[in-house]
Formats: sequence, structure tokens, C-alpha cells
Amino acid sequence: MKDIIFLTPVFKQMIWGGSRLGSQFGYDIPGDNTGECWAVSAHPNGDCQVSEGSCKGMTLSQLWQSHPELFGNPGADRFPLLVKIIDARDDLSIQVHPDDAYAKENENGSLGKTECWYILDCEEGATLVAGHNAATRQELEQMIHEGRWDELIRQVPVKKGDFIQIDPGTVHAIRGGMMILETQQSSDITYRVYDYDRLTDGKPRELHVKQSIDVITVPAPSAGESVKSAAELPVNTLNELIACDYYRVWKLTVAGAFSFEQAYPFLIVSVVEGQGRIGDREIKKGDHFILPDGFGEAELTGDMTLIMSSVNQAGTGKDGEER
Ligand code: ZN
Repeated sequence: MKDIIFLTPVFKQMIWGGSRLGSQFGYDIPGDNTGECWAVSAHPNGDCQVSEGSCKGMTLSQLWQSHPELFGNPGADRFPLLVKIIDARDDLSIQVHPDDAYAKENENGSLGKTECWYILDCEEGATLVAGHNAATRQELEQMIHEGRWDELIRQVPVKKGDFIQIDPGTVHAIRGGMMILETQQSSDITYRVYDYDRLTDGKPRELHVKQSIDVITVPAPSAGESVKSAAELPVNTLNELIACDYYRVWKLTVAGAFSFEQAYPFLIVSVVEGQGRIGDREIKKGDHFILPDGFGEAELTGDMTLIMSSVNQAGTGKDGEER
């Protein structure tokens, strides 16, 4: 059996970050403004190291280059996904991401960013921002320039266990109080539309109004289509939450024992609740690892909730065809 690839997260201090990645997930966080845990990432802004086994100390990007067979010989130039846990003590900026074509042309060949969120925790009656209310690009521009944020942004009620897909061009913002697990394309390109006039070290963070107006989808698709409840899904079942061009994401709640064949080029696994074992290896909330290609049967025992992801072979398949 091939080794499981366990990774050490990279933490990011953020103006809006909190301390729950320490208190709830048991990580040794760098401070009380820790907003992001880059749990599975080969991105240059946070390249996770392998934490055990024969490849210990290598970064995920090095592993991707030197051992493509672990990832199903994908033929892509970089590890395509990034999994984060976000702890928002305060509201995040209202933002939007470009698609691949816009990012390639305007951001030095970067990937665009499609992302999705599984809500680990939030307050009762919480909302987040997904979409906007402008009917035309001209109206969008006008509302942004006049600062009519309450009219412009679309608030969507959410609860713990909800799942939301955020396509490029979608205006979005995570609100204070939320903890989410984000699965995304491996990209760090964010255009900030509005930052609540906050200051960092006495200065506002940079806004990207022009790029935002370029990439925001007008009119916005209805918000209801993008949010679904994933709180009460059947246990011991691979529940698919989304399949899009870039990834597939599943939720698995293990109750007692459950086994499945690792049938994907690679499978990212995040333990978001509880504890148990994979084979003989103990795993617990806050652990993240990758089951390599050809891993075989994944034998899980215990009581725990896992969020898992892989590339969508129909989208960016083994043939290396670009989409
Ligand atoms: Zn985003």
C-alpha cells in the first residue's frame, strides 16, 4: 500500500482573523488574528510540507513535480487544488475572482478561482454575501462608484452544514462568526470591491474596482441555486456536494466503520469533526491528507466527518487536456 501523504498546514494572519483555529482545531497558530489555515496547498504563497514518511520535508509542489505517479500522472503543470479552513472573526472584504482566461491574461498566467465552502460553524441567523442586485454593467458601475453597498450586495441566509459554490464573477463575502472549509482552484487572485473602509496599519487595503467591474457576472444568477444544505446527509455514504470543471467534493460521515475504493487520481481528505482511524493510523479533527493514486481500499473506523475532494476527471483529466 502506498503511503498516505500527511501535510503540515501554513497559517495566514489576517485583519479579520480570529483564534478558533487554535481553540477549536488544536493548531499551534501564530497569533490571535489567524484567518486562514492552508491545509492542502502547493501554491507559492503557502506550500505545505509533507509531515511524515519517506517524503517528509518535501513541499507538496516538489512532490507533485518529482512523483507525478502519486497523483495519477496528471500532466498538469501544478497541483490544481487548494483546501483552506477560514476563521472569520470579522467580515471579509466584498470580493470577486476572475476566471482562467482573465487571470491568464492579466495576472501572470495564474489560474482563475472557482471555490466552494462547507460551513463548519456560524451564528444563528447568519448571512453571507453571494451575488448582487445590479441589472446591467452600467448600473453595477454606478452603484459601486456611489457606494450603494446595501442595495448592491445580495445577502443569503445560511446555517451550519450548508454548502455553497462560488463561480468566478460572483460577488461574495464571508461574514464575521463563520468558520468554513474552502475547496478551490490553486489561485490567490482576489479582487476587492469594498473593504468596509477598514484600515490596516493606518491604511486602507488596496481595492481593485476596475478589475472587479470587468469580471463580475451581470446579472447575477439567483443565489438559491448556489446554496444547499449538507448537514443531514446519510452516514457511511460518499455524498457528492459538487462536480464542476475543476473539482469534485464529497462529504462522508463515518459512523462505526466504512470502506471505499480510492478510485480517483488522488483524494484530498480533511477531518472536520470527530476522530477515528484510517487503517491503523489515528486521525482526528484538523488532520488533512492525500490518498495517492492506486491507494486501494480506504478502511475508516470511528465517528468523524470528512470533506474530500479531487480533480474532476471529466474536466481536467489524465489526458492533460486543458479547459
Ligand atoms: Zn473568494
